[in-house]
Amino acid sequence: MTTPQCNPKASYLAHSDAIDQAMKRVLDSGRYILGEECEAFERSFAEFCGVGHCIGVASGTDAIELILRALGVGRGDLVATVANTAVATVAAIERAGATPVFADIEDGFVLSPESLDSLLASTKGVKAVVAVHLFGLCADMDRLSAVTSKYGIPVVEDCAQAHGAVCSGRRAGSIGVAGAFSFYPTKNLGAFGDGGAITTGDAALAERIRALRQYGWRTRFISSEPGVNSRLDELQAAILNVKLASLDDGNDRRRAIAGIYFDGLKNRLGLENLPHDLPGRRHVYHQFVIRVRRRDEVKKELDSLGVGTAVHYPVPVHLQPAFKDRIRICVPLSKTEAFNDEILSLPMFPELPPDCARSVVDAIGKAIR
Ligand SMILES: *Cc1c(COP(=O)(O)O)cnc(C)c1O
Repeated sequence: MTTPQCNPKASYLAHSDAIDQAMKRVLDSGRYILGEECEAFERSFAEFCGVGHCIGVASGTDAIELILRALGVGRGDLVATVANTAVATVAAIERAGATPVFADIEDGFVLSPESLDSLLASTKGVKAVVAVHLFGLCADMDRLSAVTSKYGIPVVEDCAQAHGAVCSGRRAGSIGVAGAFSFYPTKNLGAFGDGGAITTGDAALAERIRALRQYGWRTRFISSEPGVNSRLDELQAAILNVKLASLDDGNDRRRAIAGIYFDGLKNRLGLENLPHDLPGRRHVYHQFVIRVRRRDEVKKELDSLGVGTAVHYPVPVHLQPAFKDRIRICVPLSKTEAFNDEILSLPMFPELPPDCARSVVDAIGKAIR
């Protein structure tokens, strides 16, 4: 018996009747792109996040790219973000035509406002910041906006791992100028294919993104500016309409599993090596990432004990083969690099039985002995 690190099929099985019916409804409707399901999802997800506007797109990567383009960010501009993220964050910045620059992280694995401040003070041409709410914890948006407001730069939220997370009473995606969401199957809100969405309170920005996602059309067949094809299809939207209803419940289950891990491991690993809520910030545990010494050996040992783990991510973006020779390093990325050899993601998905989580704790006890 092994415990997988994640299990997207379990989320299908938990809702299979409703999902099968929703898919059938779409197939019978004859409308497969930008129809009622997408519109309904956009309305419900905007309400869930507490924003005025939501635009469904084809992926989380597209969501980031389209926000940047709609903000007027492009060739010759720099965009600041972190290097310990899905390569997607940085790929999206480059696809918008801009150049990524990196700031360091703080405890909780999220963008450090102090490091961002020294980056912005020393580097000219940064037009936007992409703050990644990594592993389900929001970056400290209050401290970040205190920094960026000095420079008059907008903060885009990468919410791909933070559906439902809260910072200072506001949900991820409602705090910065806009939020980018991914519905990749393993995310806290996952489709069964690719999908994404953009949330914003800015009506003009939303209107421009709506045009950009479909060839720059404001009127059908008339491109008012160059756009792309990035739409949330009706099948994925129908699945998301079913699954959105249980997102809060799924996040509560993740938090319960995190509680079992935290209580079982705090005496062995120390609080600083375990994820937890921070003041004003409610974690939704997309991943439960611990820091351990001899990480690769511990991972192997857990493997042999039947516990699946993962490393998110094995190589920071600025050291990846596709980036390392051309990335401009402006400020030290000391914590990004130091944490990187120690991180280990434990099994985490809403359907993981609490008993399995307790066995994971026991296995870690053996593996780190
Ligand atoms: C998954 C993810 C993305 C990209 O989303 P896709 O839908 O796969 O394009 C972007 N940023 C982060 C932090 C992610 O985890």
